[in-house]
Amino acid sequence: MLTHEYQARDGAHHLHPFTDFKALADQGSRVITHGEGVYIHDSEGYRILDGMAGLWCMNLGYGRRELVEAATAQLEQLPYYNTFFKTTHPPAVRLAEKLCALAPPHIQHVFFTGSGSEANDTVLRMVRRYWALKGRPEKHWVIGRENGYHGSTLAGMSLGGMAPMHGQGGPCVPGIAHIRQPYWFGEGRLDEAHGMSPEAFGQACAAALDDKIRELGAENVAAFIAEPVQGAGGAIMPPESYWPAVKAVLAKYDILLVADEVICGFGRLGEWFGSQHYGLEPDLMPIAKGLSSGYLPIGGVLVGERVAETLIEEGGEFFHGFTYSGHPACAAVALRNLELLEAEGIVDRVRDDLGPYLAERWASLADHPIVGEARSLGLMGALELVADKATGQRFDKSLAAGNLCRDLCFTSGLVMRSVGDTMIIAPPLVIRREEIDELVELARHALDETA
Ligand code: PLP
Repeated sequence: MLTHEYQARDGAHHLHPFTDFKALADQGSRVITHGEGVYIHDSEGYRILDGMAGLWCMNLGYGRRELVEAATAQLEQLPYYNTFFKTTHPPAVRLAEKLCALAPPHIQHVFFTGSGSEANDTVLRMVRRYWALKGRPEKHWVIGRENGYHGSTLAGMSLGGMAPMHGQGGPCVPGIAHIRQPYWFGEGRLDEAHGMSPEAFGQACAAALDDKIRELGAENVAAFIAEPVQGAGGAIMPPESYWPAVKAVLAKYDILLVADEVICGFGRLGEWFGSQHYGLEPDLMPIAKGLSSGYLPIGGVLVGERVAETLIEEGGEFFHGFTYSGHPACAAVALRNLELLEAEGIVDRVRDDLGPYLAERWASLADHPIVGEARSLGLMGALELVADKATGQRFDKSLAAGNLCRDLCFTSGLVMRSVGDTMIIAPPLVIRREEIDELVELARHALDETA
């Protein structure tokens, strides 16, 4: 089929996620036909370096035959059976075991879902159930962060702090509050009259959590949910002071920590879980995306012993679950994916080799006239676009510099994402050094054109 035929038929029937339907119908989608390694190909024959690993999920990259074989074998053996009503199947058993072996030792249970959003719906159900079982049902408030992202179901959207989503999807689920995000370039350096050092800013953001807990009453607060590094909000690595201070606040008031590992998990930050990079011991960890390297949809919640024990010992039936919780083919693919990540030493390579290499090459973009900051951790990076490098003044919003830069990247063969004027990358974890060089050169070219 020719590109314009795909586009016409797509426009006629397909409502795309996070898309202005009318604008897309006028413009037409780019049609992606196949992929291999870190590259995708479109219907016009162009090869594009996928600097976003799809939607932060293709950790093993495209074209892994082993994952196709795992899916095929399982689909032939048992394409579906549920895990409700006292049944299970081998892939769910093996995947649960494997996940608990990889997770920090205090985590020995997992609840499966079909996606990251469903994982966060599950989180909300679980934390409220936990405190109710503890005889404290009033402890039901959950605190998230402005500009955090936890999915697009009603609960995911409500836990997240994306103002445009709240604006369209509200009213949000009651009992959820938000505090400021630890985004130094976006907020901290502009704070108060003279700005704050990153470390002072990290402390101030943790103090905002303390303030919010006291405002709501600690006896009413169940949990704090946050991504170890905010992904969709703009690849925001918090100042080093942030997480230790947050941990101290949560311990002071006996409030659960939920670390959303949907993006940070499975090697993105150079550890199996982003929490390990920051020395966190979360009570719950929602997971998805890199769990199956995006080959089939699967998510889950890793549940720490404190919560698991209460749910198991005191809970009776938990009235929650999804038809596809632990789907056999998805579980088989996820298990094979974890085995490959482990056997090929990919997580260690991100930490010891590729992460530091990207950090060095990415930092070289900081000299560009429209780059105010270039930051990265593991294989996640961001560039802050500015109109005036000396003052850090942003471009006028009407120019939509980030979107322009993103589109220029895409036409020249690189997928980068823009969040306002923050440009993001999160390539597959199998990227090679020479492909990182290519990524950085393509990004520089797009910056030149944007300027
Ligand atoms: N949590 C985080 C941190 C995410 O980045 C996402 C998706 O981008 C989700 C949850 C939602 O996952 P899904 O799109 O699989 O529902």
